Order: sequence, then C-alpha cells, then structure tokens
Amino acid sequence: MTEKETLALYEKTGALLRGHFRLTSGLHSDVYLQSALVLQHPDAAEALGRALADPFRAEGARTVLAPAIGGILVAHEVARALGVRAIFAERQDGGLRLRRGFIIGETDRVLVVEDVLTTGGSTRETIQVARAAGGRVVGAASIVNRGRDVELGVPYVSLVQIDLPTYEPDTCPLCAQGMPVVKPGSRPVAT
Ligand code: ZN
Repeated sequence: MTEKETLALYEKTGALLRGHFRLTSGLHSDVYLQSALVLQHPDAAEALGRALADPFRAEGARTVLAPAIGGILVAHEVARALGVRAIFAERQDGGLRLRRGFIIGETDRVLVVEDVLTTGGSTRETIQVARAAGGRVVGAASIVNRGRDVELGVPYVSLVQIDLPTYEPDTCPLCAQGMPVVKPGSRPVAT
C-alpha cells in the first residue's frame, strides 16, 4: 500500500480530520489523523495490517507486540497477516508491562507495532518490554510516522511519513482567526 493509498483510506473513512487541533504536545495543527476512525472498519484495518506485515515476512516474527490502546488493533491485523499471535503491553504505575498472562519467551522473535509514531517514546518502551522478557526484537512498524529522524535501533517501517505543520499557540494562525481549538477525541474547548 502506497502512502497515497493509505492517506486516501484515512480520508475515505473520515480519519483525516481538518480543523483546529491541540495535539498532546500542546502544539496546534490544522490536520489530525485519528487512526481509530480508520481501524473501526475491519477491512481497512486488515489491509493496513497486511501492508505493515509484508516487509517483515522474512524475519520470522512469532509475536506481534503493541502498546495499548492505540496499537492493539494494528498488532492484531499484522499478526493475522503473518499467521502469528498478537499481544499488548499496558501502562501500570507509569511503566508499560505485560499483563493478562501474556508471556514472551526466550526464543520469541518479536515485531513491535503502533498506530502512530511521534517521538518514538512508546515504541522504544515497548521494545524494552520485549527485551526485558527475553525476546529478540526483529523490527518495529507504525501506520503513521509523525517523527523526524527517530532512531529505534531496529529496522523500522511506516506506511505514511507526514510532516504536518504545527504551531505554538501564541503564533497559531487559526487561533488568530478566532477558530475554537479542539483536542482530538473530545468535544471542542473554549480557549
Ligand atoms: Zn491554534
């Protein structure tokens, strides 16, 4: 799946949002990719998972591991494409951990997946979860890469590399126009 096809899928499913958004980083942006809105459609999720899995078919991954919640559906579909299992790590007491009886064995070859990579922080942390359990991480993948020159130390693949314009609230042209700012996933807030 090409970058253009991936973005078209986001657009078609209403997952490419245009407006005035406050990102988790605090910066403002006029575009937001809400992966949950594309992943709610199983056929789209399956196609994205297959495209992410393809570059890793020769790596012999036995486990696909994702950080909850955003990566769970992606991991499930990548695992389906590879014919292996998908598990997830959850945040507890500040750190990501394997719970629910999920186990990574000493010989496990692990592929780490996410929906969106921005700073690479949660992917790096998930890689550490796999290694701490004795697994060998063969690569990492995310549908969207919003990062710049993110170094993970393992082969990394994304379907879309985007460098969306972001603004400091003080100099945001949309704020200057008086457009209400929205935190994605919530209702508009008055600022
Ligand atoms: Zn703004």
